[in-house]
Order: sequence, then structure tokens, then C-alpha cells
Amino acid sequence: MPKAIVIGAGIGGIATAIRLRAKNYNVLVFEANDYPGGKLHSKQVNGYRFDLGPSLFTMPHFVDELFRLHNQKPEDYFNYVQKDTVCNYFWDDGTRFSAKSKKETFVKDASETFDEPKEKIADYLERSQIKYDLTASLFLEKSLHKLTTYLSKDTVKAILQLGKLDINASLDHSNKKAFESEKLVQLFNRYATYNGSSPYQTPGIMSMIPHLEMHYGTFFPKGGMHQITQSLFNLANDVGVEFKFGEAVEEINIANKKAEGIKSQNGFYESDIVVSNMDIYPTFKKLLSKQKQPKKVLQQERSSSALIFYWGISKSFKELDLHNIFFSADYQKEFKHIFEEKSLYHDPTVYINITSKEEPSDAPENHENWFVMINAPGNYGQDWETLIKESKKNILRKLNNILGIAIEQYIDSEFILDPVGIENNTSSYRGALYGAASNSKFSAFLRHPNFSSSINNLFFCGGSVHPGGGIPLCLLSAKIVSDLIPEA
Ligand code: FAD
Repeated sequence: MPKAIVIGAGIGGIATAIRLRAKNYNVLVFEANDYPGGKLHSKQVNGYRFDLGPSLFTMPHFVDELFRLHNQKPEDYFNYVQKDTVCNYFWDDGTRFSAKSKKETFVKDASETFDEPKEKIADYLERSQIKYDLTASLFLEKSLHKLTTYLSKDTVKAILQLGKLDINASLDHSNKKAFESEKLVQLFNRYATYNGSSPYQTPGIMSMIPHLEMHYGTFFPKGGMHQITQSLFNLANDVGVEFKFGEAVEEINIANKKAEGIKSQNGFYESDIVVSNMDIYPTFKKLLSKQKQPKKVLQQERSSSALIFYWGISKSFKELDLHNIFFSADYQKEFKHIFEEKSLYHDPTVYINITSKEEPSDAPENHENWFVMINAPGNYGQDWETLIKESKKNILRKLNNILGIAIEQYIDSEFILDPVGIENNTSSYRGALYGAASNSKFSAFLRHPNFSSSINNLFFCGGSVHPGGGIPLCLLSAKIVSDLIPEA
């Protein structure tokens, strides 16, 4: 049986391993950490359980299909519930809005709260769907770097309707054209952060993302987000994928334009195929340092990172749900700080995720596990200690003002993750959450392809390569890689 080596057990790496196993490869996964999941990991502290990374789960069918690929029932491994409430939004002036997943309810509620005609909101969501339908198959499901993609019927259809895609305007510009209400513009601008970009730079085509939430829904995995990777890891084990934990790959060995295998601290391992799930930047700089470097790809602007406070809170808050956003009074200035000044704004948008709302065992009774996150620039060697201290004060000021209570008295445990920690934990260059940013209309084309054009048995998956970051796209990258590799 031919051998395949996967470097990294992030969600993209595990999904690729499962797919290659189904294609009859003998699969060996090397993981630098002593646990699977990469950014999707979990931690237990003082009776609280925290998911360390992702908190929003969409498109669960991409996970389910991996179980079915091996004739297993997904529910034997992995279960989830659909959410009725997408997110609770809060503004400094006391405005609150609970966004419901049902389209009609969202349109009605948003129209009342933001004093915007229902038809305008419904029309916006319809255009969001058109953008998604026209482009998903081209930008997300296929390699952008194979001629056959451009010869397909779907591509020709998308090109003929380019005007509907809002490629030449920023997301903010498109949203301002659609709505009078500054708050509704801000709410829809937020979707730029789903791939770590700025709404003032990313193209208007990104307004397709609300369609994903409303049409396909948002979900919560039973047992928490880390069950996504944990259950896939269990499947991988059951179908015979082998894992080596705590064994970082140091080099991908290339000879005669062919990957012959990899080298770790324990020696050389031969392989017929090598797939890197490590961030593309260190993959080239460290594992392929003797090979020609794809300069343009490696120089691409990185997505935003994050500063996260994991707080055990000795109180429960009725007004909060699983996902909660406390908006900055000046969103544009906040993004200018993140992407241009590489710093943190004094009035940040604060996101609070509370899994104990869905999974009461994640916190002691009448307590809550708060994952408090603000968007942050990548790590450029800033003075993080000072930035963290200032940010904590600013976050508390904002929350205390909006919730009308002094939160600090209820914080009974705390740990912090910053861009440096994210980089150290997963080798993600500059601590980027989503690989490269989508701050230009050309970003999609500048991400590294899922294959090497000069080494024909070397492939790449995960959030730093095509089609991009986030759980669903990482799962699609694994599918594209596997579609490029013949059955053994
Ligand atoms: P990663 O998770 O980056 O893992 C790569 C793995 O490779 C790591 O385990 C690393 O240890 C290993 N590795 C690296 N180098 C080597 C080596 N040399 N040898 C062996 N192993 C190596 N996405 C969403 O969909 N929804 C969200 O709500 C969301 N929120 C996020 C919040 C935060 C704080 C973070 C950090 C990310 C968030 N994301 C979210 C993004 C999402 O987590 C990522 O896009 C996705 O998990 C990346 O998966 P990946 O396959 O690229 O691998």
C-alpha cells in the first residue's frame, strides 16, 4: 500500500488523513504538539472548560461527510444542535439586538430595531445568496490553479454576472449603499472578521457570509468545539491512520523534483506523498528552505490575530447567549489600529462566547465560562504585556457600562492567549487566525495552491492555503487535496 505523510494534526490535516485513508493510502500524521486539533483545542481550569480557538460552527455537513466516507454513522461519533439565536448584539447607547437564524424573523426584528424597511433587508440577504451561489463552486470547492476550473459551466456563469458580485467596492461601501442605519451597516461589516479581514478593505463579495449563517444555520457541537477535531481524530484512529505526537517535522526531503519523505528529530521517514498542514509560511521557510520560495504568496498580508481572556465568572447573565458582541463606537478607527497601526484600539469590539449556556457542565452551577476576545494585529514584536493590561481595563470599562455591573468582582479564574501564544502553539505565522487576509480583491488568487507546481507529490492543506481559513474552508482544502491525488 503506498504511503502518505501528513505534517500537522490541525482540522485540515486530520481531514486530509481520513480522506487519503479512504483512498487506500497508509497514512502517518506527524504532530509537533502532544494533542490533535491545532487551534481547535480545549482546556479545563478550576472547574471550567474552555474551547481555546474557534467558537462559531457552520456547515456541519462537511464534518459529517468524513464519517460517511468510511461508512460510519456521524452520530456515533459527533453530535450537534442548531441554534435559533445567531448572536446577541450590544451598543454603548443601550441598543440591543438578538439576531435570529430564521430569515423572516431576522428581517422583521432588524427592521424594527434599526428602523430600516423590511424590503431593503430582505433584498440584501437575497443578494448575499446570489453572490454565494455564483461563486462558492469556483472559489471554495475547486483548485483556483487548474485550467479545468476555468473551463467549467459554473465559472463562465460567475464571470458573466461579475457585476452582481461587488468585487470593486469594499464591504463597508456595499453595506452603506444598502442601509441608512449605521448600526445595521456595522452589524453586516462584522462579517469581514469571519476571515480576519477589515470591512474597509475586503471586497463587497464578502457579504455572501450572512447567507451561510441564515441559510445553512449556526450550530453547537455537543461537548464543545474541540469535539469536532476530537471526533475526527477518533474516526482516523478507527480507520487505521497512525499518529506521531510530539514529533515536529524538520524538513521535507526533495530529490529530483520529488518529495521522498520527511525528516524529524527521530530520523527519516519515506513516503510516496507528503501533505503539509503546517502554515505555508514556515512550511517554506523551515521545511522547504532549500527550494525556490513563492515570494508573492509569502509576502501576502496576514489576517488579524486575537487577544483572548478566558474568564471563569461566578454569576450567570440572562441577557447573554452563546455568541455576544459588544460593538466599538468607532469601528473604522478600530480596524485602522489593527491593520495599519498594528496596535489595539482603546474602545475595542468585544466578543464573548459562553459555551456553558449550551453545555452546563462547562462551568460550576450558576457560573459561566467566558471566552472574551478582541480582534488584534498579528505579532510584530509589540509590547504585548502593556497592550494586554490596557486592553483588560478597556474591555471591562465597556462591559461594565453596557451590562451595568462591575464584572471584575465575578472573575474567579483567568488565563490569557495573545498573538505570540497562538503563533507558538500552532506555528501560525504572526499568530494569524486565518492565514492570509482577504483585504484585496486578488487575495483569493494569491493564496498558495493546494499542490506544488514543481514537486508533483507535494500538497498543502489548512487555513493558510486555498480556499482559506475557518473550519469549513480547511475541510474543503482537504477535499481539494484528496481530489488531486489518485486512488491507490
Ligand atoms: P492548525 O489548527 O493551524 O494546526 C496546524 C497543526 O500543525 C498544529 O497542530 C501544529 O502544531 C502542527 N504543526 C505545525 N508545524 C509542524 C511541524 N513542523 N511538524 C508537525 N506538526 C506541525 N474558525 C472558525 O471556523 N470559526 C471560528 O469561530 C473561529 N474562531 C477562531 C478563534 C481563534 C482564537 C483562532 C485561533 C482561530 C479561529 N478560527 C475560527 C480559525 C480556525 O481555528 C482555523 O482556520 C483552523 O482551525 C485552522 O486549521 P488548520 O488545519 O489550518 O491547522
